[in-house]
Order: sequence, then C-alpha cells, then structure tokens
Amino acid sequence: MRYSGSCHCGGIAYTLEAGEAIGEAYDCNCSMCRRRGGLLAFFPREALALTTDPGALSTYRFHKQALAHHFCPDCGIAPFSEGIDPRSGRAMAAVNVRCLDGIDLGALKRVPVDGASF
Ligand SMILES: [Zn+2]
Repeated sequence: MRYSGSCHCGGIAYTLEAGEAIGEAYDCNCSMCRRRGGLLAFFPREALALTTDPGALSTYRFHKQALAHHFCPDCGIAPFSEGIDPRSGRAMAAVNVRCLDGIDLGALKRVPVDGASF
C-alpha cells in the first residue's frame, strides 16, 4: 500500500511504500513523544521517498543522538524521523502516521512503547 504524507504547510512531503495497509502504530512515552503526540510506524528508510527539497528539513536530536527527528521549520510538524536499527544495521524511517493522508486514526491499534525507559 502506498501512502503520501506531509507536514502541515507542505514544505515537507513524501511517499511511503508500506507493503500492507498500516493497522497499528507505536504510542511512545519518551520525553519527546509524550509532548509531541506523534504515532509512529517503522519502515526501511528506502520505503520513504521525499518529494520535496531535503534542505527543507530541520532536525532535532537528543539523548543518545541516534535518531534524527525531522520537522518543518515553518509549520513545526514532525512528519518522520530516521536512524539506524542497532540490531540489523539497516537505515530505518519512523513515520508519524498522523501525517499520512487517508489514515483512519481512530481505527489504528495503538501499541504502547516504553521509550522513557530506553
Ligand atoms: Zn511545514
């Protein structure tokens, strides 16, 4: 299943080849996610293709600095993050499914993740 996603103003936009339809998302309680309120689903980085200028991304890192949390400097929305999966060594994208078109947020299974303890 192919999705399109974006920040609010459209300065950051992408397509996502998700394979199957997205049915669940991680709801993380870490110090950033609990403030930001994103719902995340993970994909190989190559599944996400930016359709806007990569230079439009602002990036925030914290704690172990391992994840690049991208956000739009104009509208403030954070449509995805990226990093390396420490187990597989593969580049991954953590997509904020709230930013995807056509997702029924109410129908998603929300999987709690205890990121605060990582
Ligand atoms: Zn924006």
